[in-house]
Amino acid sequence: MAGGEGKAADVIVLGAGIVGVSAAIAARQRGLSVLLVDRREPGSETSYGNAGVLSSGSILPLNKPSLWRAFPDYITNRHAALRWDPAWTMRNIGWVARFLADARPSRTKPRATALHGLIGESLKLHREWIVQAGASQRIRETGWLKLWRSDALEAAKQEQAFLQSYGIESRLLDRQAISALEPDIVPLYKVGLLHTQTASVDSPGAVVNAYARMFAGGGGEIRRSEVKTIAPEKNGWRVTLADGAISARDAVVALGPWSADLLRPLGYRVPLAFERGYHREFKPNPARSLQRPIHDAEGSFLMTPMENGIRITTGVELTDRDAPSCFAQLDAVVPLAKGVVEFGEAVGEPWRGSRPTLPDSLPMIGAAPRHAGLWLAFGNQHIGFTTGPGTGAAIAAMIAGAEPAFDANPFAPSRYIR
Ligand SMILES: Cc1cc2nc3c(=O)[nH]c(=O)nc-3n(C[C@H](O)[C@H](O)[C@H](O)COP(=O)(O)OP(=O)(O)OC[C@H]3O[C@@H](n4cnc5c(N)ncnc54)[C@H](O)[C@@H]3O)c2cc1C
Repeated sequence: MAGGEGKAADVIVLGAGIVGVSAAIAARQRGLSVLLVDRREPGSETSYGNAGVLSSGSILPLNKPSLWRAFPDYITNRHAALRWDPAWTMRNIGWVARFLADARPSRTKPRATALHGLIGESLKLHREWIVQAGASQRIRETGWLKLWRSDALEAAKQEQAFLQSYGIESRLLDRQAISALEPDIVPLYKVGLLHTQTASVDSPGAVVNAYARMFAGGGGEIRRSEVKTIAPEKNGWRVTLADGAISARDAVVALGPWSADLLRPLGYRVPLAFERGYHREFKPNPARSLQRPIHDAEGSFLMTPMENGIRITTGVELTDRDAPSCFAQLDAVVPLAKGVVEFGEAVGEPWRGSRPTLPDSLPMIGAAPRHAGLWLAFGNQHIGFTTGPGTGAAIAAMIAGAEPAFDANPFAPSRYIR
C-alpha cells in the first residue's frame, strides 16, 4: 500500500461495478495508489445482469418527448415497458414530476449532447480496455438491432435522422434486410434500424471482472468488505468497513443504486430512483442463433445472445429498490420473445437489478458540493454498462486536477445537491 502518512491509499473507490472499477483503473493509470472496495466480487450486481449493449446511440433517455405519447398506455400500469407502484409514486411524487418535466422538447438536445460526449469517451475506453484486459473475445462489433412489428418506417426514419445529426450511423432495414442479417428469427418485423457503431458483450459481469483483474495486475488493491460509513477526517476520508477502517485523501462513491444511502448521513439528499429491470436466460437452440442483441420496440424487451444462453431483459419497474420481485413484465415478454427465435428451457433463476436514475437521467459525475476530496459517480440509468468507463475516467481526471475528455459540466452533482 502506498499513499500519504497513515493512509491506505491516495484514493478509495467504493463500489466495484463498472463505474467503480473504471474509476479505479483510470486513477491508477494516473499514478495514484488506489483501493477498490466492494462487498461482493467485482461486477456482481447491476453491472452483471444488464443486456451487455455498448450503445453508441442511446443519447435519448427514457424521459424524452415521445414519453408523452406513450403516457396513455403507461398510465394503465399494464404495459410491459413500464410498471409503476402507486404507493412508491405517491411517496416520490416530486421525483416523478421532475422526471416528467425533463421530457419536454427543450431538454432533449442539451441532454443528448451531454450523453453523446460521455458515450463517445466510454466506447473508446471500452474498446481499449477489453483488449488490454485479455477479454477481447467477449466483444462483438455486430451492432444492435431495433425492430418494429408495425409499419413504423416514419418513426425509424426520424430516429435515424436524429442520430445522424450527432454523426451516429445507422441503417434502415425492411423485412428482407432484417432476415439477411438475422436469418434465424421469424420474419415478423416490418422495419428495423441497425445501430452499426454499437457493440455488445457476451457477459457484462465477466467483462467487469476482467477489468478488475487488470486493475489489480497494474498495482491496484481490491478489498472485499461491506462499507458502513464515510466521514471526513484531517486531510481526507475515513471509511468504516464491516471489518475495520481505512483512510485516503480522496473517496469516490460509485455504489450504483446504493449510493444515496451512504451520502444521507453527510446531509446530502440525492433524488435517486430505481428503474428496476429483470432478466431471464434460456438455453439456445443450436440450430437457431442471434448474431447481435435485438430490441423489440413494441414488445418492450431486449434479447441478447450471451455466454450462457439467450438473455431476455425487461423494461422499467418503478418501485422501491428492495421491494419484492414482481415477474409480470418477464411473464409478458418471454412468450413474445419465444415467437421471435426458438430457444430451450430456462437456465437458472430470474435476475432483478435496479437502474440508478436521477430525474434528468444524467449521472452525477463530480465533486460533492460541501466536502473536499469526496467524488460522486453514479446514476448511470439504462446505459451504465456503456458509460462506466467515461464516468470513471472523468472522476480520475478531476481528482488529478485535469480536465475530463468530455464536457462534464452537465453532470455536476450541484444540480441536485447543495
Ligand atoms: C435489466 C437491465 C438491463 C440493462 N442493460 C444495459 C445495457 O445493455 N447497456 C448498458 O450500458 N447498461 C445497461 N443497464 C444499466 C447498467 O447495468 C447500470 O447502469 C450499471 O451497471 C450501473 O453500474 P454501477 O457501477 O453504477 O452499479 P453496480 O454495478 O450496481 O455497482 C455497485 C456496486 O456497489 C456495491 N455496493 C453497494 N453497497 C455497498 C456497500 N455498502 N458496501 C460495499 N459494496 C457495496 C455492490 O456490491 C456493487 O458491486 C441495464 C440495467 C438493467 C437493470
